[in-house]
Amino acid sequence: MTPTATATEVSEVKSLIESRWASPKGEQHSIVNPANGEIVAMLNYATASDVDRSARAAHKAFLSWREVPVVDRVQPLYRFKTLLEKHADEIATLLTTENGKVFPDALAEVKRAIQMVEVACGMPSLMMGDSLNDVARGIDCRTIRQPIGVCAGITPFNFPAMVPLWMYPFAIATGNTFLLKPSEKVPLSPTRMAELFIEAGIPEGVFQLVHGGREVVEAFIAHPLIKAISFVGSSPIAKLVYKEGAAQGKRVQALGGAKNHLVVMPDADLPKTVDAILSSSFGAAGERCLAGSVLVPVGDVAEPLLNLLIERANALRFGDGLEPGMNVGPVIGADHRKKIISYIEKGEAEGAILLCDGRTNLAHTNPAGSFLGPTIFDHVKPTMTIAREEIFGPVLSVIRANSLDEAIDLVNSSDFGNTTTIYTQSGKSAREYQSRIEVGMVGVNMAVSAPMAFFPFAGWKNSFFGDIHAHGKDAVWFYTEQKVLMSRWF
Ligand code: NAD
Repeated sequence: MTPTATATEVSEVKSLIESRWASPKGEQHSIVNPANGEIVAMLNYATASDVDRSARAAHKAFLSWREVPVVDRVQPLYRFKTLLEKHADEIATLLTTENGKVFPDALAEVKRAIQMVEVACGMPSLMMGDSLNDVARGIDCRTIRQPIGVCAGITPFNFPAMVPLWMYPFAIATGNTFLLKPSEKVPLSPTRMAELFIEAGIPEGVFQLVHGGREVVEAFIAHPLIKAISFVGSSPIAKLVYKEGAAQGKRVQALGGAKNHLVVMPDADLPKTVDAILSSSFGAAGERCLAGSVLVPVGDVAEPLLNLLIERANALRFGDGLEPGMNVGPVIGADHRKKIISYIEKGEAEGAILLCDGRTNLAHTNPAGSFLGPTIFDHVKPTMTIAREEIFGPVLSVIRANSLDEAIDLVNSSDFGNTTTIYTQSGKSAREYQSRIEVGMVGVNMAVSAPMAFFPFAGWKNSFFGDIHAHGKDAVWFYTEQKVLMSRWF
């Protein structure tokens, strides 16, 4: 059955349950544009009973979808890719409206999302197993990969178009069916993308969209028909979902928060390094899990680096992300802004020196929006709160180090291990850093080391709970069970 109405033509964002656009009966929340504080849509949360109906429909669909040859399963994904390309500007506009990031960033996110679909279209090759004849006399052995059933995805507010696509194109191409719960703060772009997936011809029950909050997540974890959960969000919730999901016998991958270090060696190319730091730490208002939040200048590079960084940070243009020429938009909302400000206050109270105060340089922004300018603290100690905890805003803490060894020890002492970058022109320093650092994604002279769709994505330590990472070949392994077949013929 085809949904009877599009979900975003009215201001209420609907869920897609049992292949119908529905208004669940849970709490109602407003979706606010963080650039101006205006309500742009209403969202009704789904309940545990909506999850139950969706999971049953997904299970029913799974029984036939897994029998569809993989070459046919990827056909809707090819059409989805074309539709996403055609509607990229429209999706990016929705994304900027609900999340705040500037339009070029939003468009880049949509393009990254499309690459996920492209990679998943290669599933006929990616899913192949191994085989070896005559493993013993007359005995042949091969491995095959089979889908696991109904899978669920829970995603964060900061990449509403891309992160869901780390999950469902791979899960569905491998023969599973999928329930997606996007962040309740940013439901517009994932819903528009769901409409396009339906238009691309994805069969009934194979993909459903269950909007909501904690109740939906708890119902996913408890539901016996849901076999695997992919989570991306903050570390405390990632840990909880991993623990509770595993206790229910589910396969779980849970990507968490971050505290990413940028190490600058004395031989770094300063102008290019400053460009990269600005983009890493203040791009998307610091709301990326790959954002640099601790800057570690090594030796005497600190003074010239900070002088240039402050000059360039003060020149960044903050404003509504739909206005041309803006470098940075608002943070996600007023509550989050308050939380970031409380971290800035803690930094001051704990004795760090404020070089650049994001609370004050906002003269040209809409006061009803949730704007914060770049904030830079110097002389931060590793024990301070702003050095240890994820702030998830445009706040950069500077911890000076005397040597590469000291910088490596500092980074390795963090509870998190999502990404890190070293800036240097020395191959030796770069190689040593990449080898000794206890972090999942490591860059050299990069702004944001985001692995492309065909490589895996995940951090270490408190930035990731699970074994198999997101997208790339890992996604094929996560969404399939491996079976070994041995045969002997007389
Ligand atoms: P969040 O943890 O608040 O929410 C993520 C998801 O969990 C949402 O769908 C939300 O509805 C749900 N959720 C929230 N509280 C819950 C609860 N008590 N029980 C069950 N479910 C709950 O994260 P966020 O604020 O939306 O996103 C920002 C966080 O995501 C940051 O910590 C960031 O580092 C992280 N993130 C990590 C990656 C990565 O690849 N490691 C990527 C993007 C974002």
